[in-house]
Amino acid sequence: MSIPFVDLKSQYRRLQTSINARIGRVLEHGAYVMGPEIGELEARLSEFCGARHAIACSSGTDALLLGLMAYDIGPGDAVFTTPFTFFATAEAIALLGATPVFVDIDRRTFNIDPDRLEEAIDRVRQDGRLTVRGILPVNLFGLAPDYDRINRIAASSGLFVLEDAAQGFGGSYKGRDAGSLGDVSTTSFFPAKPLGCYGDGGAVFTSDDSLAEKIISLRIHGMGADKYDNVRIGINARMDSIQAAVLLSKLEIFPDEIRQRQRLAEQYDKALEGLVETPYIPEGYTSIWAQYSVLSDHREIIIEALAEHGIPVAVYYRTPCHLSAAFAYLGYEPGDLPVSEATANRIFSLPIHPYLESGLPERIASILRTAAAGT
Ligand SMILES: *Cc1c(COP(=O)(O)O)cnc(C)c1O
Repeated sequence: MSIPFVDLKSQYRRLQTSINARIGRVLEHGAYVMGPEIGELEARLSEFCGARHAIACSSGTDALLLGLMAYDIGPGDAVFTTPFTFFATAEAIALLGATPVFVDIDRRTFNIDPDRLEEAIDRVRQDGRLTVRGILPVNLFGLAPDYDRINRIAASSGLFVLEDAAQGFGGSYKGRDAGSLGDVSTTSFFPAKPLGCYGDGGAVFTSDDSLAEKIISLRIHGMGADKYDNVRIGINARMDSIQAAVLLSKLEIFPDEIRQRQRLAEQYDKALEGLVETPYIPEGYTSIWAQYSVLSDHREIIIEALAEHGIPVAVYYRTPCHLSAAFAYLGYEPGDLPVSEATANRIFSLPIHPYLESGLPERIASILRTAAAGT
């Protein structure tokens, strides 16, 4: 019997009546794209994370594009980000013709290192070839980086902060919720994210009224007073009504699922102590546990041992972005961002979702003990 890495079927069984009813209403009213569910979802999301504006859209990647386009990011601009993230983070910068400047990560949180960030901003500024414009930090695996420091650095250099909370929505930092930690924040509702729909979806958040207005316009082909009045170059980043309907159902149980994820993480921490390096959560932060990621020098042996028992493992990420083939043109070499590279060689993620069989952390611990005895 193998267990699923993410169990969306059990969640569906729990919500079946509610989800089917909401989808049924969409099928009946017929406004399949940007229907009445979108406004309802946006109000709920804004309430949930405390940002004044929530703008639903077609994916987490499009949300990043909309955020960057709101700042007119383009050729000649430098945007500082982490190499240890899903490719889409840096891809959005590059797709607009701007240059991602990769900054190494903190060894314990796996998030962008504010000390290295300050150095990188100085370096690019002195070099003079690019205009420093913004910082795009990622709440990796569900944990926010140090936004107080990042926002201070940004303010002193005149940069914007775009929070990529695709893995972080539902987490918090010093009493504030992910989605409200940057000037603009984004999330993804891809099915496997902690809050996911049944296809692609995303959202942009901001408390700045004029940025919100621009993002709303960019989302539908740069619309002005109506969609046939085009006042700027935008994209098609609309959300489907069915996806909003699914999210409205799932939001009802999201706080409960957050508690379940936290409980599981605590069980993992306890069971795995001394067997692998367990996640570090700084004081005053809460993770949404998009992933439960650990470090070990024996990763491949462990993955094999767990696979024999039907327990899936994922490796996020084997290749940091600065070494991916797509970014070869930027000229990074192995060794340039040593913490990211060392982390990529040792990290792996264990299943964590609210519908996991009880006792799995202990079962994994015992498999690891046996595997360690054999090495
Ligand atoms: C998933 C993810 C994205 C992209 O979201 P999509 O909805 O798949 O487009 C962007 N950034 C990070 C960090 C992600 O994990």
